[in-house]
Amino acid sequence: MSEAARPTRVLVLNSGSSSVKYQLLDMADQSRLASGVVERIGEKGDAGREGGDDGVADHAAALRRVAGELAGRGLGLDSPELAAVGHRVVHGGTRFTGPTLITDEVVAGIEELVPLAPLHNPANITGIKVARELRPDLPQVAVFDTAFHATIPEAAARYAIDTATADRHGIRRYGFHGTSNAYVSRAAAALLGREPSEVNLIVLHLGNGASATAVRGGVSVDTSMGLTPLEGLVMGTRSGDVDPAVVFHLARVGGMGTDEIDTLLNKRSGLLGLGGVNDMREIGRRMAEGDERAQLAFDVYVHRLRRYVGAFTAVLGRVDAVVFTAGVGENSAAVRAAALAGLDGLGIVVDPVRNAVRGSAGRLVSAESSRVAVAVVPTDEELEIARDTYALARG
Ligand code: ADP
Repeated sequence: MSEAARPTRVLVLNSGSSSVKYQLLDMADQSRLASGVVERIGEKGDAGREGGDDGVADHAAALRRVAGELAGRGLGLDSPELAAVGHRVVHGGTRFTGPTLITDEVVAGIEELVPLAPLHNPANITGIKVARELRPDLPQVAVFDTAFHATIPEAAARYAIDTATADRHGIRRYGFHGTSNAYVSRAAAALLGREPSEVNLIVLHLGNGASATAVRGGVSVDTSMGLTPLEGLVMGTRSGDVDPAVVFHLARVGGMGTDEIDTLLNKRSGLLGLGGVNDMREIGRRMAEGDERAQLAFDVYVHRLRRYVGAFTAVLGRVDAVVFTAGVGENSAAVRAAALAGLDGLGIVVDPVRNAVRGSAGRLVSAESSRVAVAVVPTDEELEIARDTYALARG
């Protein structure tokens, strides 16, 4: 096939625990041809209907709906212009440390990692299986959320527990949000007019899930999420760091079961647990009305952020930029200002006027006097997955 006739479109599938997001990109010009989301998987409504707003039965049905939506727009999976399918996969363990061309053996490898990501990897696997059934001839690529953190040195990746026990159960810091970190690190370096290899960054990915990552010369050297995405920062519904003995205490004294505690820490904590709502916009609205719970949630959230900025400043030694990304990081000037307030001793000074300007492009919000740049960089995980997928599919 001549160069000009080679297909350039990549379908990116992000199969979450209760939703499937998709984007179709043309890598010839990185344009977005279609995007959408099928939500409320597993909440199917009456009479087994798969249409409308009733949700869908399972991930296989959701994938079939995605295929149907694309076909309805003349962009079906059978299109010869489709070059590859890229799948976001949450957990790659220690085995998958980069984008991987999917084979039966790779699917089996991702299946073996289900105990480490019981909510996410099964959904990812279903996405892969259905897409492979629909287009067995097409290259399909797995892009792992953990992969960017494979470079974290042992001193930061190891928990200080008995080594044999830890190794038997695969217990170590894996880290997540890797695809976002990879994209944002390069974009932040470009914003600074430097090569990624030249800059040290603290990347704060603050979405519903939230993580801090220390990036030295384009490479992750420490991150706040650990064995699972529960550790580290305060999140929408996750607690982030707690004393592990809280778990024993809740079991022994509170009489709670393992699953109940899991649900408490993952689904009923964070902003929701403290402030009554998981959305930072609503926390802001309630704070403005004098709601003390919302204020406390905000204060705990920014205190934890500040702690990690300090810790990762020490890990990196020299920081060129603190980079905010994802829903809260890109949109909440209040969080950015509060998290970095009083850090001029670390060379970090936010400019209140620049910080208040809203925008969708990458921008600096630090003061001229700030030794460390403070940047807001919109993340684009789908584009990063599409790039990785296309590069591997083309060979
Ligand atoms: P996900 O982690 O699900 O990909 P996002 O990165 O889209 O999530 O972040 C979603 C969160 O971003 C919302 O729950 C909300 O708290 C926050 N958010 C979005 N817009 C704003 C805003 N204008 N101000 C403050 N927070 C916002």
